[in-house]
Amino acid sequence: MQELFEQSRYAPKNHSVAKLLAEYSSKYMPVFEKVKKDWNPTIREFYRSTMGLRLYNGVKGKKAIGDAGVSIQIRPHKDDSFLKAVDEMLPDVDFDRYAQLRELRDTLLKVSLHYASDPERDKVYKWMLQDTRNYLKGNSLSGPFTAMMKTPGSHRSLFGNYTYLDQHVELFYMPLLIFCKYKEVDLQWAIVVVLAHELAHAYHHAGRDNDGRVWAGMGRAHLWIREGLAMYYSERFVASQERSYPALRKAYDGLLDGSGEEYTSYLSWKNEYSLEHVKLALSMVRRHNVTRYEHFLEKLAEAKKLMN
Ligand SMILES: [Zn+2]
Repeated sequence: MQELFEQSRYAPKNHSVAKLLAEYSSKYMPVFEKVKKDWNPTIREFYRSTMGLRLYNGVKGKKAIGDAGVSIQIRPHKDDSFLKAVDEMLPDVDFDRYAQLRELRDTLLKVSLHYASDPERDKVYKWMLQDTRNYLKGNSLSGPFTAMMKTPGSHRSLFGNYTYLDQHVELFYMPLLIFCKYKEVDLQWAIVVVLAHELAHAYHHAGRDNDGRVWAGMGRAHLWIREGLAMYYSERFVASQERSYPALRKAYDGLLDGSGEEYTSYLSWKNEYSLEHVKLALSMVRRHNVTRYEHFLEKLAEAKKLMN
């Protein structure tokens, strides 16, 4: 499907946010398009082999169209609640000045010895450091992010979404652009992480096993099962690439940091099981339509026992 360039209907009051929005089509849209083109096949190949699942395999003429069927749409945001929260909490924050002052603070901390030797200079130094810290604290974007993250399920869907009904992946560029500016995370790697997360959902739900089965009841499974499996597989994907692309790991960790517990619950079981254990457990969970979290943990243990 060919997605059209969709503009936000909400007009942000914060001028830094408005600037990002205005620059999107010329400056950032090419990054989204490039990630989509370059990383979509790599992520899908990794999932096909690690999950043993395939998305719809169409045939066009004599040519097989591998894993077509889940389109990727790039939209401004899911709804305007995040941009509204930024406007309400931080109407005046300037992202460039914020980044510059953070750099100044880090530099000031490194040169404290230079000023400490002279009481007069030390006084000015301490004032400057405190003033810089005050600005950073008062204008931190963590306020709006925390407000969004307190609502279960809304953190990851702030950046992207997978829809069960018509099976497509959406990436939301405004929250991603703001997040990357704020955390100094490279945009392209943040997009790869979110794309990997949403595609994991797509495979778990619509991927066919060798018997042709999908997981129609996935939407009823406990949030910790759905998000835990998506986090597990996207993290494994990151692990498979991080030697060549260390910035990808930094983006993953940045996005994980401060996430709700439905996104971090997998950390409690991920080291207990190998990729093959989880693959077998996933297959059982899908076949038996497991919905309760305790049963999911039992399937993991059962898979390990069967294989070891
Ligand atoms: Zn998710």
